[in-house]
Amino acid sequence: MTTASAIHSVDLPSGEPIPILGQGTWGMAEDARRRDDEIAALRLGVDLGMTLIDTAEMYADGGAEGLIGEALADRRDELFLVDKVLPHNATRSGTPTSCERSLRRLRTDRLDMYLLHWRGQVPLEETIDAFTRLVDRGLIRHWGVSNFDLADLSDLTRIPGGTAFETDQVLYNLTRRGIEWDLLPRCREAGLPIMAYSPFEHGRMINHPTLEEIAAAHRVTPAAVALAWVLRQDHVATIPKAGTPEHVRENRAAYELQLTEEDLAVLDRAFPPPTGPRPLEVL
Ligand code: NAP
Repeated sequence: MTTASAIHSVDLPSGEPIPILGQGTWGMAEDARRRDDEIAALRLGVDLGMTLIDTAEMYADGGAEGLIGEALADRRDELFLVDKVLPHNATRSGTPTSCERSLRRLRTDRLDMYLLHWRGQVPLEETIDAFTRLVDRGLIRHWGVSNFDLADLSDLTRIPGGTAFETDQVLYNLTRRGIEWDLLPRCREAGLPIMAYSPFEHGRMINHPTLEEIAAAHRVTPAAVALAWVLRQDHVATIPKAGTPEHVRENRAAYELQLTEEDLAVLDRAFPPPTGPRPLEVL
């Protein structure tokens, strides 16, 4: 292994540290021919310190959770396991049912973080109540939300128990910078880490010419530039999904890449920051 430094962490509001570089799993367990590679990728990522694993009951209809269970059950204590409940399941009685099903697939007895995948029709009061009970039962250690804009967060914090959320997982990459206007600064002020999903825009931005140009100068891949840009920011953790050991190695190496002021200026010209409020974008 050639990587030099350990992956640093950011603290949740409760004080627990989470690594700023983890692994996503959306799209895994959908093609049996890729299974061995996906398992090898996840295990290698953990070897390399990318111990935060993000999944959801939605991914491959529970298949991604099953794949994680198969890949990593023997390494459970090394992981920070993040899972998500679907909005229509996030009722007072549906949430524990979903959670217990997810735990069985993951072959574990607890989640480190349980997120509401996005805001749906179920009143937030019910979901918070269900999350709180799951904490009391020791089935989840922390809870949070995903795809919540500022207005959603303020609704959440007005509900009894609602201020106990520990992260907001949102879309954030060079092509989706809207949160820099308000959501990200407000979360920083509150000491709340953002979990940035789709750092490669689901793979679609990797061939961008500006990324290629900067990558060539540093002798790295364009993906490394995109990821290093997300990783350099305070209070942001990110969860790239890589289905091959080679991609995992590249993503881990991106942690070592230091973008220069000039690189950042070039990136700002190609991918301008927001000049006003924008609704939160989602994938
Ligand atoms: P992403 O991480 O932006 O991109 C994944 C794509 O990039 C895959 O096609 C992958 O290919 C490719 N890739 C990975 N590393 C690469 C590298 N070094 N070089 C070239 N290509 C590379 O997309 P994402 O899966 O949408 O987002 C990441 C994770 O965030 C998800 O897996 C999921 O856990 C989470 N997420 C959450 C939400 C939410 O609503 N909360 C929404 C979207 C995503 P290979 O598979 O071939 O490696």
